[in-house]
Amino acid sequence: CGIVGIVGREAVAGQVIEALRRLEYRGYDSAGIATLEQGRLERRRAEGKLSNLQLKLVQSPLSGAIGIGHTRWATHGRPNETNAHPHATERLAVVHNGIIENFRELKAELQAAGARFETETDTEVVAQLVSHLMGQGLGPVAAVEAALPRLRGAFALGFLFAGEEDFLIGARHGAPLAIGFGQGETYLGSDALALAPFTDEITYLDEGDWAILTRDGAEVRDIAGNVVARPRQKIVSQA
Ligand code: GLU
Repeated sequence: CGIVGIVGREAVAGQVIEALRRLEYRGYDSAGIATLEQGRLERRRAEGKLSNLQLKLVQSPLSGAIGIGHTRWATHGRPNETNAHPHATERLAVVHNGIIENFRELKAELQAAGARFETETDTEVVAQLVSHLMGQGLGPVAAVEAALPRLRGAFALGFLFAGEEDFLIGARHGAPLAIGFGQGETYLGSDALALAPFTDEITYLDEGDWAILTRDGAEVRDIAGNVVARPRQKIVSQA
Protein backbone atom coordinates (compact mmCIF):
# COMPACT_ATOMS: atom_id res chain seq x y z
CA CYS A 1 0.00 0.00 0.00
CA GLY A 2 3.01 2.28 0.44
CA ILE A 3 6.26 2.25 -1.53
CA VAL A 4 9.61 3.80 -0.64
CA GLY A 5 13.00 3.64 -2.35
CA ILE A 6 16.27 5.40 -1.54
CA VAL A 7 19.52 5.58 -3.49
CA GLY A 8 21.56 7.00 -0.65
CA ARG A 9 25.10 7.62 0.52
CA GLU A 10 25.06 5.79 3.84
CA ALA A 11 22.83 3.21 5.56
CA VAL A 12 19.25 3.90 4.41
CA ALA A 13 17.19 1.53 6.58
CA GLY A 14 16.35 4.24 9.14
CA GLN A 15 15.17 6.63 6.44
CA VAL A 16 13.14 3.92 4.74
CA ILE A 17 11.30 3.24 8.02
CA GLU A 18 10.79 6.97 8.58
CA ALA A 19 9.22 7.32 5.14
CA LEU A 20 7.05 4.22 5.66
CA ARG A 21 5.76 5.78 8.89
CA ARG A 22 4.48 8.67 6.86
CA LEU A 23 2.51 6.24 4.72
CA GLU A 24 0.92 4.48 7.71
CA TYR A 25 -2.21 6.61 7.36
CA ARG A 26 -3.13 4.51 4.29
CA GLY A 27 -3.45 1.41 6.46
CA TYR A 28 -1.38 -1.79 6.24
CA ASP A 29 -1.07 -5.30 7.65
CA SER A 30 2.65 -5.99 7.24
CA ALA A 31 5.86 -4.27 6.21
CA GLY A 32 9.30 -4.99 4.81
CA ILE A 33 12.58 -3.64 3.53
CA ALA A 34 15.35 -4.82 1.20
CA THR A 35 18.84 -3.35 0.90
CA LEU A 36 22.08 -4.36 -0.79
CA GLU A 37 24.68 -5.65 1.65
CA GLN A 38 28.00 -5.90 -0.22
CA GLY A 39 25.95 -6.20 -3.38
CA ARG A 40 23.75 -9.00 -2.01
CA LEU A 41 20.02 -8.58 -1.54
CA GLU A 42 18.97 -8.80 2.09
CA ARG A 43 15.40 -8.53 3.33
CA ARG A 44 13.66 -8.02 6.66
CA ARG A 45 9.89 -8.43 6.78
CA ALA A 46 7.28 -8.57 9.53
CA GLU A 47 3.57 -9.06 10.00
CA GLY A 48 1.77 -6.24 11.75
CA LYS A 49 3.07 -2.83 12.70
CA LEU A 50 6.25 -1.11 11.61
CA SER A 51 7.51 -1.50 15.18
CA ASN A 52 7.70 -5.26 14.52
CA LEU A 53 9.89 -4.60 11.48
CA GLN A 54 12.02 -2.18 13.48
CA LEU A 55 12.56 -4.85 16.13
CA LYS A 56 13.85 -7.20 13.44
CA LEU A 57 16.21 -4.49 12.24
CA VAL A 58 17.52 -4.04 15.79
CA GLN A 59 18.11 -7.79 16.08
CA SER A 60 19.64 -8.02 12.65
CA PRO A 61 20.56 -4.63 11.19
CA LEU A 62 20.92 -3.69 7.54
CA SER A 63 23.65 -1.28 6.53
CA GLY A 64 23.09 -0.90 2.76
CA ALA A 65 23.13 2.56 1.18
CA ILE A 66 20.43 1.64 -1.33
CA GLY A 67 17.08 0.08 -0.50
CA ILE A 68 13.34 -0.26 -0.96
CA GLY A 69 10.53 -0.55 1.58
CA HIS A 70 6.84 -1.36 1.68
CA THR A 71 3.74 -1.33 3.80
CA ARG A 72 1.30 -3.95 2.52
CA TRP A 73 -2.48 -4.01 2.44
CA ALA A 74 -3.02 -7.58 1.30
CA THR A 75 -5.20 -8.16 -1.75
CA HIS A 76 -3.88 -11.59 -2.84
CA GLY A 77 -2.42 -13.88 -0.19
CA ARG A 78 -2.77 -13.78 3.58
CA PRO A 79 -1.15 -11.00 5.56
CA ASN A 80 1.84 -12.92 6.90
CA GLU A 81 5.62 -12.57 6.74
CA THR A 82 6.07 -14.81 3.68
CA ASN A 83 3.61 -12.73 1.67
CA ALA A 84 5.03 -9.39 2.89
CA HIS A 85 6.99 -7.36 0.35
CA PRO A 86 9.67 -6.96 -0.91
CA HIS A 87 9.36 -10.10 -3.03
CA ALA A 88 12.62 -11.34 -4.44
CA THR A 89 14.66 -13.78 -6.46
CA GLU A 90 18.44 -13.91 -6.22
CA ARG A 91 18.55 -11.23 -8.94
CA LEU A 92 16.12 -8.57 -7.72
CA ALA A 93 13.63 -7.42 -5.13
CA VAL A 94 10.35 -5.64 -5.84
CA VAL A 95 7.76 -3.65 -3.89
CA HIS A 96 4.29 -3.16 -5.30
CA ASN A 97 1.11 -1.17 -4.66
CA GLY A 98 -2.07 -2.32 -6.33
CA ILE A 99 -3.03 -5.48 -8.19
CA ILE A 100 -1.52 -7.46 -11.07
CA GLU A 101 -4.75 -8.72 -12.62
CA ASN A 102 -3.21 -11.30 -14.95
CA PHE A 103 -0.95 -12.84 -12.31
CA ARG A 104 -2.46 -16.32 -12.64
CA GLU A 105 -1.62 -16.58 -16.36
CA LEU A 106 1.84 -15.17 -15.82
CA LYS A 107 2.45 -17.49 -12.89
CA ALA A 108 1.46 -20.55 -14.92
CA GLU A 109 3.69 -19.45 -17.78
CA LEU A 110 6.67 -18.83 -15.50
CA GLN A 111 6.15 -22.08 -13.60
CA ALA A 112 6.12 -23.92 -16.92
CA ALA A 113 9.48 -22.26 -17.63
CA GLY A 114 10.83 -23.54 -14.31
CA ALA A 115 10.21 -20.65 -11.88
CA ARG A 116 9.56 -21.70 -8.27
CA PHE A 117 7.15 -19.47 -6.38
CA GLU A 118 7.36 -18.92 -2.63
CA THR A 119 4.27 -16.81 -1.93
CA GLU A 120 0.54 -16.53 -2.57
CA THR A 121 0.78 -12.96 -3.84
CA ASP A 122 0.11 -11.43 -7.23
CA THR A 123 3.28 -9.39 -6.76
CA GLU A 124 5.68 -12.31 -6.90
CA VAL A 125 5.01 -12.76 -10.64
CA VAL A 126 6.68 -9.39 -11.20
CA ALA A 127 9.86 -10.52 -9.43
CA GLN A 128 9.82 -13.86 -11.25
CA LEU A 129 9.07 -12.33 -14.67
CA VAL A 130 11.87 -9.75 -14.49
CA SER A 131 14.22 -12.40 -13.09
CA HIS A 132 13.29 -14.78 -15.91
CA LEU A 133 14.02 -12.10 -18.52
CA MET A 134 17.37 -11.36 -16.87
CA GLY A 135 18.09 -15.08 -16.98
CA GLN A 136 17.62 -14.87 -20.74
CA GLY A 137 20.39 -12.28 -20.87
CA LEU A 138 18.63 -8.94 -20.49
CA GLY A 139 20.11 -6.32 -18.16
CA PRO A 140 17.95 -4.90 -15.35
CA VAL A 141 16.67 -1.91 -17.33
CA ALA A 142 15.87 -3.93 -20.45
CA ALA A 143 14.22 -6.63 -18.36
CA VAL A 144 11.90 -4.13 -16.62
CA GLU A 145 11.14 -2.49 -19.95
CA ALA A 146 10.19 -5.88 -21.42
CA ALA A 147 8.17 -6.91 -18.36
CA LEU A 148 6.00 -3.81 -17.88
CA PRO A 149 3.83 -4.22 -21.01
CA ARG A 150 2.95 -7.75 -19.86
CA LEU A 151 1.40 -6.57 -16.58
CA ARG A 152 -2.33 -5.80 -16.39
CA GLY A 153 -4.01 -3.85 -13.62
CA ALA A 154 -3.37 -0.72 -11.59
CA PHE A 155 -0.03 -0.65 -9.86
CA ALA A 156 3.13 1.15 -8.80
CA LEU A 157 6.43 -0.74 -8.55
CA GLY A 158 9.90 -0.24 -7.11
CA PHE A 159 12.86 -2.47 -8.08
CA LEU A 160 16.26 -3.11 -6.47
CA PHE A 161 18.84 -5.32 -8.21
CA ALA A 162 21.57 -7.53 -6.75
CA GLY A 163 25.00 -6.10 -7.50
CA GLU A 164 23.61 -2.75 -8.66
CA GLU A 165 24.51 -0.26 -5.94
CA ASP A 166 23.86 2.81 -8.09
CA PHE A 167 20.26 2.67 -9.25
CA LEU A 168 16.67 1.78 -8.51
CA ILE A 169 13.77 1.57 -10.96
CA GLY A 170 10.24 2.82 -10.30
CA ALA A 171 7.17 2.36 -12.50
CA ARG A 172 3.73 3.92 -12.44
CA HIS A 173 0.67 2.33 -14.00
CA GLY A 174 -2.55 3.44 -12.37
CA ALA A 175 -1.17 4.14 -8.89
CA PRO A 176 0.72 7.33 -8.04
CA LEU A 177 4.49 7.48 -7.64
CA ALA A 178 6.79 10.40 -6.85
CA ILE A 179 10.54 10.93 -7.18
CA GLY A 180 12.33 13.18 -4.69
CA PHE A 181 15.67 14.86 -5.30
CA GLY A 182 18.16 15.32 -2.44
CA GLN A 183 21.85 16.20 -2.07
CA GLY A 184 23.51 13.24 -3.77
CA GLU A 185 20.50 11.09 -2.84
CA THR A 186 17.33 10.29 -4.76
CA TYR A 187 14.07 8.93 -3.42
CA LEU A 188 11.03 7.06 -4.63
CA GLY A 189 7.73 7.28 -2.77
CA SER A 190 4.01 6.69 -3.09
CA ASP A 191 3.51 10.38 -2.35
CA ALA A 192 5.44 13.55 -1.56
CA LEU A 193 4.42 13.37 2.10
CA ALA A 194 6.50 10.21 2.52
CA LEU A 195 9.55 12.02 1.19
CA ALA A 196 8.99 15.30 3.05
CA PRO A 197 11.64 14.60 5.73
CA PHE A 198 14.30 14.36 3.01
CA THR A 199 13.37 16.78 0.24
CA ASP A 200 10.77 19.25 -1.00
CA GLU A 201 11.79 18.85 -4.64
CA ILE A 202 9.48 16.34 -6.28
CA THR A 203 8.59 14.99 -9.69
CA TYR A 204 5.36 13.06 -10.08
CA LEU A 205 5.51 10.33 -12.69
CA ASP A 206 2.85 10.47 -15.38
CA GLU A 207 0.67 7.50 -16.17
CA GLY A 208 2.75 4.78 -17.83
CA ASP A 209 6.08 6.37 -16.86
CA TRP A 210 8.97 4.45 -15.42
CA ALA A 211 12.21 5.89 -14.11
CA ILE A 212 15.80 4.99 -13.35
CA LEU A 213 16.88 6.70 -10.13
CA THR A 214 20.57 7.36 -9.43
CA ARG A 215 22.32 9.52 -6.82
CA ASP A 216 22.47 12.32 -9.39
CA GLY A 217 18.78 12.35 -10.27
CA ALA A 218 16.41 10.36 -12.41
CA GLU A 219 15.86 9.46 -16.04
CA VAL A 220 12.15 9.19 -16.76
CA ARG A 221 10.85 7.20 -19.72
CA ASP A 222 7.36 6.98 -21.08
CA ILE A 223 5.49 3.81 -21.95
CA ALA A 224 7.11 3.76 -25.42
CA GLY A 225 10.58 3.93 -23.85
CA ASN A 226 11.30 7.54 -24.86
CA VAL A 227 13.21 9.67 -22.36
CA VAL A 228 10.83 12.42 -21.25
CA ALA A 229 11.10 15.59 -19.16
CA ARG A 230 8.74 15.82 -16.19
CA PRO A 231 8.60 19.05 -14.19
CA ARG A 232 10.11 19.32 -10.71
CA GLN A 233 7.84 20.91 -8.13
CA LYS A 234 8.58 22.53 -4.78
CA ILE A 235 6.35 20.92 -2.19
CA VAL A 236 5.28 22.92 0.84
CA SER A 237 6.45 20.69 3.67
CA GLN A 238 3.89 19.35 6.12
CA ALA A 239 6.65 17.86 8.30
N1 GLU B 1 -1.55 -6.91 -4.36
C1 GLU B 1 -0.36 -6.84 -3.57
C2 GLU B 1 -0.43 -7.82 -2.41
O1 GLU B 1 -1.47 -8.24 -2.03
C3 GLU B 1 -0.01 -5.42 -3.07
C4 GLU B 1 -1.03 -4.86 -2.11
C5 GLU B 1 -0.67 -3.44 -1.68
O2 GLU B 1 -0.91 -2.49 -2.47
O3 GLU B 1 -0.19 -3.27 -0.55
O4 GLU B 1 0.57 -8.20 -1.88
